[in-house]
Amino acid sequence: MTEAFLYFLWQFQYFDHTALITTEGETVQVLHPGFRNPNAGPDFLNARLLINDVEWAGNVEAHTRASDWVAHRHGYDRAYDNVILHLVWTDDRPALDPLRPMTSRPTRSDGSLLPTLELQARTAPDLLSRYNALTAAPDQIPCAGQFRAVEPLRITSMLDKALLQRLERKAADVRAMYETTQDWEETVYRLLAMNFGFKINTDPMAQLSRAVPLKTLLKHRNSIRQVEAMLFGCSGLLDEVAQPDGYVDELRREYRFLGAKFGLIDNQLPPHVWKWGRLRPANFPTLRLAQFARLVSNHGSLFSLFVGIDDAPAILKKLQVTPSEYWADHYRFGVATNKAAPVLGMASATNILINTVAPLLAAYAHHRDRSEYMDRAIGLLEQLPAEKNTITDHWETLGLGIRTAFDSQASIELFNAFCTPKKCLSCQIGASLVGAR
Ligand code: SF4
Repeated sequence: MTEAFLYFLWQFQYFDHTALITTEGETVQVLHPGFRNPNAGPDFLNARLLINDVEWAGNVEAHTRASDWVAHRHGYDRAYDNVILHLVWTDDRPALDPLRPMTSRPTRSDGSLLPTLELQARTAPDLLSRYNALTAAPDQIPCAGQFRAVEPLRITSMLDKALLQRLERKAADVRAMYETTQDWEETVYRLLAMNFGFKINTDPMAQLSRAVPLKTLLKHRNSIRQVEAMLFGCSGLLDEVAQPDGYVDELRREYRFLGAKFGLIDNQLPPHVWKWGRLRPANFPTLRLAQFARLVSNHGSLFSLFVGIDDAPAILKKLQVTPSEYWADHYRFGVATNKAAPVLGMASATNILINTVAPLLAAYAHHRDRSEYMDRAIGLLEQLPAEKNTITDHWETLGLGIRTAFDSQASIELFNAFCTPKKCLSCQIGASLVGAR
């Protein structure tokens, strides 16, 4: 028995309401169970109850054992003064001590008594068995064995909820970055830089974007060589080239001048922060930085590129940049190859739309209080092909069709935020399986 199960019983009123009385003998009628509180404080807010025919409006606190009210010292916490019902699975309080009658009773901070409602005897045993069976299942997706029996509408509705939750979470990160920069262009530039790290080099790319402000790069936007010189120079990667060639010499010369002029040298990264191990050459930080330099120098406003265009194929095309000519036959400095593929590929461009552009639109929707940007974020994901990974493979084996990035993003969120921590009762699919009559 968990408190999550108790919340579920109360939220959906899955218990026997016949002659509902508190342990103190007061009659209870539930007019509204209230709303689940995800934050600190009582578990349900704004409930409405008739207790002994008097209407009460306030909060509900749930515990598996009645003694937890006293153990958690809620009686001394003013945040619990508006609790109108103590909901418990079982009342484990000792018989009242006639000499100290209040010590085991739930009271508010002013000493007033709280009514307690016990649910154990009012709950159908099969409800609890279904819940136990679901949460005890060993599968990575605990409902795997029952998934195909779930109504498709419930699955769709849960995926919508998961996708929105994912977008809101990522949008909160974007807004936090905007709070730091107070500038949407700089925010987009930093987000994009981190995305160009493609997970393994996200941290050094984030450091580099803070060390070389966009405004500085844009002053020399018309010279790709100078943009490259500032990024490569400040990255520290020019310092470790064993066999410098003419291109490296030119970048070093430019960086000596521009780095001193804009004070970049003091913030230069040590070369060891960059990771190379187990990376395919197409993902080497040198090539990714060369692509990033081209993208920044191609666009006076990255923000307009991402927020001003409402068409995924058009943005994808603009993202698929070709870096400067040196990178046609190099993956790293001083080592020529005839196998180079310098253009930013379709998969990487799609990744940027999913992980940078959609969250940016969602954050901007909040910033401007304009829901159409959120609709565009969702529309963008619906236009893009699905990602493929072990999580989406799991879902596909259960028969879930994953066709667009909307589907893959939603199913990844469902897996990570609900299935893995076994929050099945907060999931519409799990709630329908446990509550099925
Ligand atoms: S969280 Fe939902 S989808 Fe995931 S295992 Fe539980 S019931 Fe199934």
